[in-house]
Amino acid sequence: MDLGIDQKIVIVTGGSKGIGEGITRVLADEGAIPIIASRSKQSGKDLVNELSSQGQESYFVEAELSHKMDCINVVRKTIAKYGRVDALINNAGVNDGIGLEAGNADKFEKSLHKNLIHYYTLAHHCLPHLIETQGAIVNISSKTAMTGQGGTSGYAAAKGAQLALTREWAVELLKYNIRVNAIVPAEVMTPLYKKWLDTFGNPDRVLSTILENIPLGNRMTTPSEIGSMAAYLISNRARHITGQHLYVDGGYVHLDRSILPLRTSPLKEGK
Ligand code: NAP
Repeated sequence: MDLGIDQKIVIVTGGSKGIGEGITRVLADEGAIPIIASRSKQSGKDLVNELSSQGQESYFVEAELSHKMDCINVVRKTIAKYGRVDALINNAGVNDGIGLEAGNADKFEKSLHKNLIHYYTLAHHCLPHLIETQGAIVNISSKTAMTGQGGTSGYAAAKGAQLALTREWAVELLKYNIRVNAIVPAEVMTPLYKKWLDTFGNPDRVLSTILENIPLGNRMTTPSEIGSMAAYLISNRARHITGQHLYVDGGYVHLDRSILPLRTSPLKEGK
């Protein structure tokens, strides 16, 4: 299926590592031009160079997204170079472990700046440009908005708010034919995920327990599987989809785990 996103200008926050990198790579493969907005300068430049060596165009804008001016600068630089924005993919975030017991209100607020406020700031400053292109927004949320995780109030609050904002913006922007959707990943091996795993004394055992609980194939979702959904959602192929929360998680959040061990898995048996 041709997504028809050739030459589309797509801002991807945190677009050089983990899920963001997966999104950037799928977009580039589809002929779009990803604008990687991240503080991760080395990985951003490396990825732009690698894509360029494959004949794929992308652009890196250095930004610490918890700073409002950096968000504004991402949009300004994109417009200065390409003159338009076709889509915004809000993805950057960090599971920073600001809990109810261990945290405090100041740390909680800082966590919201790392995880939530820039989603709004970028959408707000992209909006005049998205109106011109009748573009799309995709918010990358997390299963923690549904399941909780414990010890991470700031992150969970931000992830829940992203889902609420997805619906809120979808309604507000109907009149411009701008679509807004969210992707809800659960378990994707990325530098952030690895850091979280390493907070356990026995990360390998924790990982194998998690894998056992991922219904489809007992494996993690790959960054490119999230990227494929993001590319589809910004494309005209998804032109009647808005305000949706798409779970790309191998059934992790919704399937009945108590019944799963009773079923034999052809994948496990190598059939
Ligand atoms: P990651 O491996 O840490 O990659 C995120 C990238 O974004 C990194 O390059 C990071 O820079 C950058 N970044 C983060 N905060 C930033 C900021 N304030 N300003 C500029 N750049 C920033 O994370 P990931 O696992 O791919 O997660 C991406 C998104 O998916 C997050 O919103 C996360 O909540 C969501 N998610 C992930 C999972 C999962 O299983 N991995 C599950 C559910 C949801 P540094 O390298 O400098 O930190």
